[in-house]
Amino acid sequence: MGDFSQLAINQFTTLHQWSLPEAVEGYARNGAHAMGIVRDKLHEVGVVEARRLLRTHEMQVTCLCVGGLLTDSDPHRFRANLADSRRAIDEAGELGAECLVFVAGGLPEGSRDLPAARARCLEGLAELLPYAKSAGVTLALEPLHPMICAFRSCLSTLGQANDWIEALGAGPELGIVIDVYHVWWDPDLEREIARAAGRVASFHICDWLMETTDLRLDRGMMGDGVIDIRRIRRLVEATGYDGYREVEIFSARNWWKRDPDEVVAIAKARYLSDVV
Ligand code: ZN
Repeated sequence: MGDFSQLAINQFTTLHQWSLPEAVEGYARNGAHAMGIVRDKLHEVGVVEARRLLRTHEMQVTCLCVGGLLTDSDPHRFRANLADSRRAIDEAGELGAECLVFVAGGLPEGSRDLPAARARCLEGLAELLPYAKSAGVTLALEPLHPMICAFRSCLSTLGQANDWIEALGAGPELGIVIDVYHVWWDPDLEREIARAAGRVASFHICDWLMETTDLRLDRGMMGDGVIDIRRIRRLVEATGYDGYREVEIFSARNWWKRDPDEVVAIAKARYLSDVV
C-alpha cells in the first residue's frame, strides 16, 4: 500500500461516468478521501444530500468548481454572475470545502477590449471578497492557459494572479490554484510560485499531451505528456504548501470514455510513480 493521504481526485476526472453520489462512493472505495466537486453535479443532488454522502464516506472537499466569470460588460449578466458566485461561496462553506475555484471569464461577446474585461473582473472580485471573508471561504484564483483567454479566462498567468492579489490588498480569503496544465510553460514559473507563498489553496495535476487535440478537453494522465510535474510539485512545496495533489483530467477522447474505476486505479499508480 502506498501513501495516498495527499491524494485528491477532482470530479472532472470522471465527469461523464459518475454522478456525485457515485463519485464519492467510487473514490472512497478506491482509497481516496479528498475530492474536488463540480457544481452542476452538486446541484443534481443538493447540498444536504451531498453533506450526508461526504460524511458517510469520510470524504474531504478540496475545492468547489467554479465561481467567477465576472467579465461581462452587460450589467444584468454581471450582477447575475456575481449573485451566482455568492451562491457558490455559500455552497463551498456548507460543504466545508478548502476553497472555491475562481475562474475569471473571457472576453464578453463582440468585445476586443481585454483590459476592460480584466478591470471588470477585478471590480467583481473586490465586491465578492468581503462576502467570502464573512462566510469563511477562500476564493482561489486559477490562472488558465492563455490559449483559452478569449472564451474562459482573462487571467492567464501566476504572475497576473499575484499582481491581482497585491492590487486588491486581499487577506487570506483570496488564494491561488496552481494547476500544472495551465502554468507549466511559463518562463517565470519558479519566481511566481515562490511569490505565491502562503496563498496556494489547491494544487492540480495532470499532463500536457504533445499531440493535444482540444483547447480544454484533451488533458493527459500524469506521465503521458511533457510536464515535469515533480519539479513543479517541489516548487509548490517549497512555499510551505503541504496540502493535496489533486488529479484533474478533462478528457473527452480518452479518460471520460473509460471505466471510472480503471481511471482512478491508473491515477493512483501514476500518483505513486516518480513522475509525481
Ligand atoms: Zn484545475
